[in-house]
Amino acid sequence: MKIAVLHFVHETVTFLANETTLDDFIYEGSPAKGEALLGIDPKSYMGGFVKVAREHADVELVGIESPLQPKTGIGSGWITREAFEFFVGRMVEQLKAEGPFDGVYLALHGAMGVTGIPRPEAEIARRVRQAVGASAFIAATFDPHGNEDEAFLQAADLAFTVKYYPHYDAYLQGTRAARNLIRCIRGDLKPTHASRKVPLISPTVLQWTGSAAWMSLINRALTWEAREPDVYVNVFFGFPWSDVPDAGMFVQVTTHDDPTLAAEVLADMVGTIWRQKDVLLSSADIVSIPAAIGAAAQACEQGAFPVVIADHSDRSGYATWVLDEIIRQELSDTVVATVADASALDRVQSAGLAVGDTFEAAIGGRVDPSAGEAVSVVGKVLHVPQLRAKDAGRLPFVTVGFGRNNVVVISRYLTQIMEPSELAGFGIELGRYKVFAIKSRVHFRLGFDDSGFAKKIVIAEPDEPFLGTTRLQGLGYRNLDLSSFYPYRRDASF
Ligand SMILES: [Zn+2]
Repeated sequence: MKIAVLHFVHETVTFLANETTLDDFIYEGSPAKGEALLGIDPKSYMGGFVKVAREHADVELVGIESPLQPKTGIGSGWITREAFEFFVGRMVEQLKAEGPFDGVYLALHGAMGVTGIPRPEAEIARRVRQAVGASAFIAATFDPHGNEDEAFLQAADLAFTVKYYPHYDAYLQGTRAARNLIRCIRGDLKPTHASRKVPLISPTVLQWTGSAAWMSLINRALTWEAREPDVYVNVFFGFPWSDVPDAGMFVQVTTHDDPTLAAEVLADMVGTIWRQKDVLLSSADIVSIPAAIGAAAQACEQGAFPVVIADHSDRSGYATWVLDEIIRQELSDTVVATVADASALDRVQSAGLAVGDTFEAAIGGRVDPSAGEAVSVVGKVLHVPQLRAKDAGRLPFVTVGFGRNNVVVISRYLTQIMEPSELAGFGIELGRYKVFAIKSRVHFRLGFDDSGFAKKIVIAEPDEPFLGTTRLQGLGYRNLDLSSFYPYRRDASF
């Protein structure tokens, strides 16, 4: 049994001006193929897939050359057509050259935005189908932030989407993809699907599956999977920062040769979402940035620290709203991680600044109205990292101390801190600080909330409806009609 393994993921914020280019996908380790590809992310989708596939003695896995996450992470806009065609073209060539294959595993995300290609993941599946033929089976894994519709499973056979946000079950979904792909190849599973768009669009900060509404929705999907053998329920929450026609919520149900059951489960899931739509959309309190800094100061006075301030809305990484307000309100004992500013890092590098040197510069802001103004920081360099091969000779970050025991990390790219332990990598000793201002919507819950670390969590966004705002009506959508989605549609029936 010969199975090809491919990987192509990105969560594209199409409203960002900086395109995601071919060069962004090419760096030390990327693209990857063979064992190097199969070995990425042992605790995520790929690790789960490879583990279970290799429990079967008659399975051969072929790692097809694939790009890993771009250097820009999730801080970049439209993927260029050139980058997409380059990698997919090489994948198709290699599939044809090394075939025939009995199966293909596609490790995807689902929120890829490519210039000129409305549904990139479905397009990948169609081209892979053409390369491997009708008799091969195609299985994929997805992130719940994927923007998908019926098109994907018209070209592929199976899809498994992570249920939790933070994405705890990525490895588990990888194992399910492997097991069921192998069953399809053996004739032990005949997948039938039912799927439907739910015209509900939500900012990602509200989609925390630790909140009661989202947890209960996920529990409903898990209950169906527990009740019925071979029922698989995928709930795509959707990614509203991609201006693509298939954004919004989407539910897929797979059964073993039972379209009636698939339709029944689907009707139950979409009906539940629609009945719960208002609670799903009110799952988090979001405050202004001045209010967030004030609340953090008050919590510290009352001894309720560590405090986490999550600026959920920054999509470029350059936003300075929180840093500016920390300085304005003279907050102390605070870590700001991070403010992106590539040119500030280049200047630090060319000046050869070292630990203990004075740092004086205006950092961040400017790249987009959502980033705000550059903010002047005067302090001392606390940490400068050694360059690694993957830094390509460019300083990845610098840590600067300022004010009354405050620290700001200046990074090259948007950086989402998910665990307190990641701060050690910036030379930060956790115990010395009371407030941690980070840029994350929900993933930080993993290490800061679910772990019991934070005594108080405040989620904030600027007053203006910038890119990343919960007020989606402030964004200039062109490829989807916001007024067709709840809560922006007048008609509440569905
Ligand atoms: Zn996600």
